[in-house]
Amino acid sequence: MEHLPPEDGGFNRLRKHHGPLRRSLWVVLVYLVAGLAWISFSDQAVEAWFPDTRTLSEIQTWKGFLFVVVTGFTLFIVVFRQLSKDRMLLSLQARQRRELRHRERQLTVLMDNLPGMAFRCRDDGVGTLLFASAGCEQLTGYSPEELVDRGVVSFIDLIVEAKRGEVAREISGTAQTGAHFSVEYPITRKDGRKVWVWARGCGLKEDDGSTVLEGIVLDISDRKKLEQELEKMATRDSLTGLLNRRELNRVLEEELVRAQRYQRPLAILWIDFDHFKNINDNWGHAAGDLVLCSVSRILESSVRSVDSVGRFGGEEFVVVLPEMGEKEALETAERLRKKVRHKPVQLESGHKVPVTVSIGVSVYPIHGTSLGTLSAAADKAMYQAKKQGRDCVAIAPPAMRVHNETT
Ligand code: GH3
Ligand code: MG
Ligand code: MG
Repeated sequence: MEHLPPEDGGFNRLRKHHGPLRRSLWVVLVYLVAGLAWISFSDQAVEAWFPDTRTLSEIQTWKGFLFVVVTGFTLFIVVFRQLSKDRMLLSLQARQRRELRHRERQLTVLMDNLPGMAFRCRDDGVGTLLFASAGCEQLTGYSPEELVDRGVVSFIDLIVEAKRGEVAREISGTAQTGAHFSVEYPITRKDGRKVWVWARGCGLKEDDGSTVLEGIVLDISDRKKLEQELEKMATRDSLTGLLNRRELNRVLEEELVRAQRYQRPLAILWIDFDHFKNINDNWGHAAGDLVLCSVSRILESSVRSVDSVGRFGGEEFVVVLPEMGEKEALETAERLRKKVRHKPVQLESGHKVPVTVSIGVSVYPIHGTSLGTLSAAADKAMYQAKKQGRDCVAIAPPAMRVHNETT
């Protein structure tokens, strides 16, 4: 937790001194005591030392002069010191005021030109805003007045509901440990548009023991979009938009681990287009690409949301079906085969290209217990389907099962 700087030392020192009235009374008292003592004792002393009345009278006169000179000099020193101090304090005050105004102006310019908004809020679980800079309006669509003190809506309510609790806990938790918080989350603007923001700041301990959070919130929607595009590029096949080979392997590995852990089946469909070379040769490579894309959409829309469809390479696709046994996998493969067969791809020229696929099926743990054996079994089954005349489905042969069990 960051603490506010300790109170000004000068102010503390000032508090230790007595008040101006008490100090003035002390000065007057000292003056009176010294004056009275001087008058009484000096008179007695000169009378004792100078019995002659003429000399005594002269001495009394000089004594009077001396008193006036000494008190005048003392008064001069006291007044001079006080006036110098006053002058110094006044010029210091004026300089401090000038600097403060300058800093305030700097801060206002900085806040108004911040690409997002600067904020100050209570760490009260609902993030009551105490201050929001002008950039708030551009970021959220709400003016600072609408958000401060939960005027129209609370800033925390702008955070999309699914993330709200998590974000609030993370900010509050990190601020309590004294570290800077840095969180990214989506908010819903006043116009209903969703934007991604990045909030960074820290917790400050107030004099009353409460904590306030201070920091900035920036719009990072462009960066997020770029990140998502890059992520998509890294995991998706650029032609069909399906999972690419690397991502497909990752998903397969992940699903296999899950299947092993929960002792659930896992099916793989290995799909290869029949006589695809002919499509390329007859209609051109671009038409071949269009066929690949159209069939990809058919496959994607014909499986469950938990299933994954990927392009293994060329015109070979793989479908991963978690928690699916042999019978259901065969039924799914047959359904996909029929769908592709009954939906010829329409080219831009208007021609319809008939497409068929051969599908090999393998199921964990029957046909293999590792990624390699399962994929090999599905691939072999696909070749079996080709041998059987294409446009059909084949399951990994019993021989594969024996092979797997012995390896
Ligand atoms: P089979 O029924 O035995 O599978 O016959 P096939 O002609 O499909 O043979 P094979 O699977 O070996 O041929 C794959 C062809 O797919 C070869 C290649 O030109 C074509 N191909 C691979 N990738 C692409 C691609 O991205 N776009 C297009 N248009 N064609 C591709
Ligand atoms: Mg082929
Ligand atoms: Mg092939």
